[in-house]
Amino acid sequence: MIEKIVIANRGEIALRILRACRELGIKTVAVHSEADRELKHVRLADETVCIGPAPSAGSYLQVHSIISAAEVTDAMAIHPGYGFLSENADFAERVEESGFIFIGPKPETIRLMGDKITAIEAMKAAGVPCVPGSDGPLDNDERKTLKMAAGIGYPVIIKAAGGGGGRGMRVVHTEATLLNAISLTKAEAGAAFGNDTVYMEKYLENPRHVEFQVLADTHGNAIHLGERDCSMQRRHQKVVEEAPAPGISEELRNRLGERCAEACRRIGYRGAGTFEFLYENGEFYFIEMNTRIQVEHPVTEMITGVDIVKEQLRIAAGEALAYRQSDIQIRGHAVECRINAEDPVTFMPSPGDITHLHIPGGPGIRVDTHIYDGYRVPPHYDSMIGKLIAHGENRASAIARMRTALAEMVVDGIKTNIPLQQRIMVDEAFVKGGANIHYLEKKLGI
Ligand code: ADP
Repeated sequence: MIEKIVIANRGEIALRILRACRELGIKTVAVHSEADRELKHVRLADETVCIGPAPSAGSYLQVHSIISAAEVTDAMAIHPGYGFLSENADFAERVEESGFIFIGPKPETIRLMGDKITAIEAMKAAGVPCVPGSDGPLDNDERKTLKMAAGIGYPVIIKAAGGGGGRGMRVVHTEATLLNAISLTKAEAGAAFGNDTVYMEKYLENPRHVEFQVLADTHGNAIHLGERDCSMQRRHQKVVEEAPAPGISEELRNRLGERCAEACRRIGYRGAGTFEFLYENGEFYFIEMNTRIQVEHPVTEMITGVDIVKEQLRIAAGEALAYRQSDIQIRGHAVECRINAEDPVTFMPSPGDITHLHIPGGPGIRVDTHIYDGYRVPPHYDSMIGKLIAHGENRASAIARMRTALAEMVVDGIKTNIPLQQRIMVDEAFVKGGANIHYLEKKLGI
């Protein structure tokens, strides 16, 4: 087993990783910024290294500082968490070249999946269904491009191959605006991602976001843990997630999940990963793969009983998967509400001191958070301060438990989106299940 790891992240996911390490007897090194000395996992870690100032560009994104921290503490591996350097192939490469284990896929896999065009090519070759589109980069042949869009049918979406975080895309409704939209997206993509390659896809008008969780070891084994529905979004940011996705039959789950697992075997995938799909009229369309642990992994853990972070650590240590596909059974339903330090109406971030905190509990309730009484939420980072997860024997009971938990939770001193989550949990369309990705913004009137 790995003896000691560096946790190259902060907040709730750093604490989540620390807990998994404790359970497996792995020592932890918390690397943190000057603003994060009081983080819970920093207090709990076996060793700590301050790697720079509050802004993440000078700390959590500093490759050499993180690798130096691993060197001086004699750690064996680095867990990147999510965000920050987690999907940076150059970072993964530097980690491995420096003699450490990167807890994630091989650098070349991250690179392959980080370019949406090569990712789609790889998925098509593996039999994963994709959105009809240009099947590669758009070139300068305007006539060909116009013909292609007419063939696909409007609306189409122009997407940057190197895009991420919901940026670098433009929807085009008519032929008259196509060529201009392509040059604008190209210019933006070049400036934002250093890569002006763009491609075209059919724009699906009312899809749901449904994603499959996979685990793959270094011995050629790969399994899926079913799917999650993350359609409740605002500005491409997920707000509520659940598992399983409402209305997906076991037959469809098994068929698509096995396709994803097979794609992992083919590309030599290693670790935990997520295949993101748009789901419309009973059909799945692959859009991208995330090569890291995701914020919403707990809902899958609740319904499968698999500890995904522990599996990441075991896979990184070279162990074979402890589960076969037939061992994975789905039990009940789980819902996750992201709790953000922000105004529930204007969505303005609300950092500051937590003067009073009450964490809910009871059957089926899990709270993944790093906040505590007296903790000061710094203004420098993402506003998510925790996740409330409710599990029940069915969807209705999971939602009922979530309502109770939200009503019990008290975070004084700062504003949070708890009132918004309470509205969503009683919303008719949410309660019915299966709302599409535009639903929440329409409900909020934005
Ligand atoms: P990113 O890497 O920036 O998150 P994605 O490719 O995952 O980009 O797309 C982000 C979001 O954009 C999707 O969740 C969906 O809301 C929308 N989107 C992307 N492609 C399409 C498409 N072909 N049709 C409709 N919506 C799309």
